[in-house]
Amino acid sequence: MKFVVDVMLGRLARWLRLLGFDVVYRPDASDEQLIAIAEAEERTLLTKDTRLLRDCRVNGYLVRSARWEDQLREVLAEFHLRDLIRAFTRCPECNTPLVAVEKEAVRSRLPQNVYEEQTDVHLCPGCSRLYWAGTHVERMSRKIEELLGE
Ligand SMILES: [Zn+2]
Repeated sequence: MKFVVDVMLGRLARWLRLLGFDVVYRPDASDEQLIAIAEAEERTLLTKDTRLLRDCRVNGYLVRSARWEDQLREVLAEFHLRDLIRAFTRCPECNTPLVAVEKEAVRSRLPQNVYEEQTDVHLCPGCSRLYWAGTHVERMSRKIEELLGE
């Protein structure tokens, strides 16, 4: 299941990526460009714009919820995505799947305490960001559990 989202849904895009889903988000793209991306890459267009959806010749879905938390629940339910969640496997910034790296290989880029304490370090090949299981991941994990009600 791959998506492209409109400019109104940036927060939703980020969280879908955090849950492992492939989401294109281009705040600078025109409506025509969004539709072209959806068509070329066989993505479902998620939008808040009824007009865009009406004119649209691709698979589209009108997101009804206003708050991003509710939008996320709505999309997970609509497309039956819960069993497909693979949290923290994709870069929330640029949508690239993360790869595991030896922490020795990126030692110079890690804070000392992270280097000493963490065993699992992941790299985004798209934007070179590094990820590890720090406090922000714990916070997001709690948020995910809260959102999914588990
Ligand atoms: Zn990235």
